[in-house]
Amino acid sequence: MDFIPVSLIIDDPAPRVFVYYEHADSRFTADGRPLVSEVPNSFLKDFVSVTERYGIRGKFSVVPMPGGRGDIVNGVDGFAKEEIDEWLSVVRERVQKSFSICPEMLTHAKTVDLENGGFLDVNENTWASTQTAQTLTPYIAKSLSLLKEAGLKATGVTSPWDFGIEVEDEYVRAISVAYGEVYGGKDCWYFLRDLRNRPNAKPWVALNQDGRRVVSVPATASDHFWQCMDTTDTSSAYISSVADGVITSDGRGGEMIRVMEAGGWPILIAHWQSLFSNGLGTGLKALEEVARRIEANLSGRVKWMSAEEIMRLVLEQPESFPKPSFD
Ligand SMILES: [Zn+2]
Repeated sequence: MDFIPVSLIIDDPAPRVFVYYEHADSRFTADGRPLVSEVPNSFLKDFVSVTERYGIRGKFSVVPMPGGRGDIVNGVDGFAKEEIDEWLSVVRERVQKSFSICPEMLTHAKTVDLENGGFLDVNENTWASTQTAQTLTPYIAKSLSLLKEAGLKATGVTSPWDFGIEVEDEYVRAISVAYGEVYGGKDCWYFLRDLRNRPNAKPWVALNQDGRRVVSVPATASDHFWQCMDTTDTSSAYISSVADGVITSDGRGGEMIRVMEAGGWPILIAHWQSLFSNGLGTGLKALEEVARRIEANLSGRVKWMSAEEIMRLVLEQPESFPKPSFD
C-alpha cells in the first residue's frame, strides 16, 4: 500500500436536537455559559462546505431518536417536520457521498422499551452492559430501520458512549445479525474503541464467521476539538493551537503524526458538540485548519477514506488485521 488511510469519525449529530444537551451532566459549559439547546440546519451546511472543500472522508452518525424526543421518520418534538427533512436531505445528498452513515443507537439518552415504546429508567450505555446478542439485536435493528426508512444507506453502527464494551463479542454478533436483517449485507463495521497512544493502531476484524464479517474501526487520536466548547476565544491564534494538537503547521508534530510514526492509521475523532462549540463554530474552524495542514504537508502520503472504504481495505487481507489485546 503506497498511502496511509486517514479518516474522521463524527459522533452525535442529529437533526435540530443538540444531542449533547440532552445527555450532558451539566447544562453549562466549563466556563459557565448556558449550553445551547438546539443546532440550526445551517451548521450542517457549514460542516459539509468544509469537508467538501478538503475532501475529508470518514463516518457520520445520525442519532435516530435524538434525546427520545420522537424519531427522524415520524417527527421530533419541538421542531417542524420540514426542518428535520431538510437536514436529512443534506445528509443524503451531500454528507453520504464522503462519509459512511450509521445510527448511534436509538436515543443516546434513555433506553427505549421496545415492547411498549416507552423508556426504561437507565441510559443505553448502562442497559447495554448486561445484554446478550439476542436482546441487543432488535435494538440495533430498530436503529438501522429508522435510518433506512429515512432513505439513508447505513453501512455500520456507532456505540453511544461505550455501549456494549462489557459484552463486546455479543454486541458484535448482534450488529452483524441486525445489519443483515435490515440492509441485507454480510459485511459491516462499528465504532466503539479508541486506541490512543498505542503503536500500530489500526482497525481489526472483529467477526469473520459463516461469510459474515464485522470490522472494528477505532479512533486512534483524541478529540482535540472538544476544548472549543468551553471558551469564547475564537481568535486565529487559538484555532491554530487547537489544530496543533492534531497536526502542527509544518506537518512535523501533533497526535496524527505520532500515530503515523508509530505505524498506525490516523483515525481522527470529533463530536458534533466539539465542532459546534456551543454555537460559535470554533471547532469546525479548527477542523478546517487541520484539513488544510494535512493537504499542505501530507498530500500523496495519506488518503482520506470513509469507514466503509476502510472496512473494504481491511477485508482485502483480513488475516493482516487481528484484534488487539485489551487486557
Ligand atoms: Zn456519542
